[in-house]
Amino acid sequence: MTTCGPSSTPTDFDLPAMRERYAAERDRRLRSDGSAQYVHTGPGERSESWEADPHTPPVERDPLVSDVEVVVIGGGFAGLLAGAHLKKAGVEDVRILEMGGDFGGVWYWNRYPGIQCDNEAYCYIPLLEELDYMPSKRFPDGVEIHQHCRNIGKHFGLYDGALFGTMIRALVWDEATRRWTVTTNHDDELHARYVVMATGPWSKPKLPGIPGLDGFAGHTFHSARWDYAYTGGSASDTVLDKLADKRVAVVGTGATAIQIVPYLGRYAEHVHVFQRTPSAVDARRNPPTDPEWAASLRPGWQKERQAAFHAFASEPFPTRPASEDVACDFFTEVGRNVSARIAGRSLSPTELAAIREEEDYGVMERVRRRVDEIVADPETAEALKPYYRYLCKRPCSSNDYLETFNRPNVTLVDVSGTKGVERMTERGLVAGGREYEVDCVIFASGFEISAQDTRLASGIEAIDGRGGLSLYDHWRDGFQTLHGMTSHGFPGLFFMGNTQGGGNASVTANYVQQGEHIAYLIAEATARGAATVEPTKEAQDEWVRTIHALAAPKTFLEQCTPGYYNNEGGGNGGIRAATGERYGGGFYAFDRLLRDWRAEGDLAGVTLL
Ligand code: NDP
Repeated sequence: MTTCGPSSTPTDFDLPAMRERYAAERDRRLRSDGSAQYVHTGPGERSESWEADPHTPPVERDPLVSDVEVVVIGGGFAGLLAGAHLKKAGVEDVRILEMGGDFGGVWYWNRYPGIQCDNEAYCYIPLLEELDYMPSKRFPDGVEIHQHCRNIGKHFGLYDGALFGTMIRALVWDEATRRWTVTTNHDDELHARYVVMATGPWSKPKLPGIPGLDGFAGHTFHSARWDYAYTGGSASDTVLDKLADKRVAVVGTGATAIQIVPYLGRYAEHVHVFQRTPSAVDARRNPPTDPEWAASLRPGWQKERQAAFHAFASEPFPTRPASEDVACDFFTEVGRNVSARIAGRSLSPTELAAIREEEDYGVMERVRRRVDEIVADPETAEALKPYYRYLCKRPCSSNDYLETFNRPNVTLVDVSGTKGVERMTERGLVAGGREYEVDCVIFASGFEISAQDTRLASGIEAIDGRGGLSLYDHWRDGFQTLHGMTSHGFPGLFFMGNTQGGGNASVTANYVQQGEHIAYLIAEATARGAATVEPTKEAQDEWVRTIHALAAPKTFLEQCTPGYYNNEGGGNGGIRAATGERYGGGFYAFDRLLRDWRAEGDLAGVTLL
């Protein structure tokens, strides 16, 4: 398999001038309303119907009233990995509750044309060795990844007891029974000893709060609810033949739009791409999996590969030699180049930061020059260039996206000057004072990832712990957890995802880590005859202090162009990382910390009730 050394990037540019350009580009996009600029979707919201499931008819069933050992909320990778580890730890009575019609989470909902993972599958797709599965190519299609999710469900018996089409209304702690009462949109009432929240940060679509949004008379949908009945084609046959006589607008140019736009360009009569901030788009190396390489792999290969990937994709100053980068792509390029320059040298933090900055600017300059090489119209090319630091937004790769703007039926509409699309009319969208008449508007406008209120991200109305304490109040001024997974006052409630734990460039590795730890806690509590577990206030406070003491400064995020990575520039609620408050020692140090903690066996800081 390929490994590679440092890449060649331009150095003939004025870095201080570019720094100023980045700041200016950021400033003209900043909005005082920050994340409040968006319209929320889902039950009780103005735009409830936007969240409806286009893939599975609504589930009709009688309410279920039952005791259960563990309820897992969410059947995406997080919930599946919690379920898998619980089963492996001998916890059998597990019910996954999922709002979609099947397992898969983002891979269930997102079926838009062109969907593939863009974080290499050998690292991203979990449990490859355990399920004896090898992805067909480096970045497989969404249908393949969705099938793997279902296979995890089958392999671990997680379909038994799963409730699909089910949304949680409330979680309320009952001190008398020491259980959680879980109520749902089907009027179910489950009394659970343990609840694992695996709701995921990408589950709630959001819409831009464009004035006139509701007045548009044409067709609209969000990218995570692709309407193949309107466009033609299907998730596995992406011939969008019904668009041949349609004028289509896409709002948004993030990682989703990068994958969708080439298909629209190919099939629609005309496509208007409304862009506020361009993505950084590199070439995409996506070869089929080499069977000889696959046959040569030894047990433990996936974790080893992840560690190599994370070293370059997640560590600011990788200690591995650049030649050990096996991913060799846009995700690892800056790290690889930094590694090559710092190897064997003793450097001060200031010198290290300067090298990282130079390599970052060099890679982004390479990506900007790539735009000029591909896009024929100079004005369009200029508008498509990203002026911000690497990792201010999700790095993208595509061999078709930029090329699509050379088509006569595709127009880029730059709405950066007005901080977004100005307004919508009955007939279309207005930008730069001009009305663009269209038949259909597709919102590739993202998810409630940086939602100010955890309630919006989870969609659950109430999470009330001991004494009626609301989790939303408890966390209003910041997370309060032990290891990111439990919180005092909320016995037997577990959190997965971005809170106060480890982080790296393939989110599923976090879920494996959390799934293992949560399963251990539940299995141990059961083995020791406890009714439930809860962190002590002291242990929680100590963990919060540790997280804050090791936290990276927010300077990088403050200087970034607005987006969900930095809570939209901090206009509403301040600068906040979408990745939560990560343990500053890094993912692998956190992993060792958890392993050591478990090895001690005394459940330090956790009370058995
Ligand atoms: P994003 O939040 O990244 O993008 C939303 C887009 O909508 C941005 O371009 C944003 O512009 C634009 N937008 C918002 N409001 C307006 C407005 N008023 N007028 C014009 N444009 C507007 O969402 P995505 O769905 O693209 O991606 C979300 C995340 O999902 C990714 O970052 C990635 O983590 C994941 N993903 C992963 C994929 C994979 O692995 N294959 C594929 C797709 C997504 P602006 O940038 O200016 O805010």
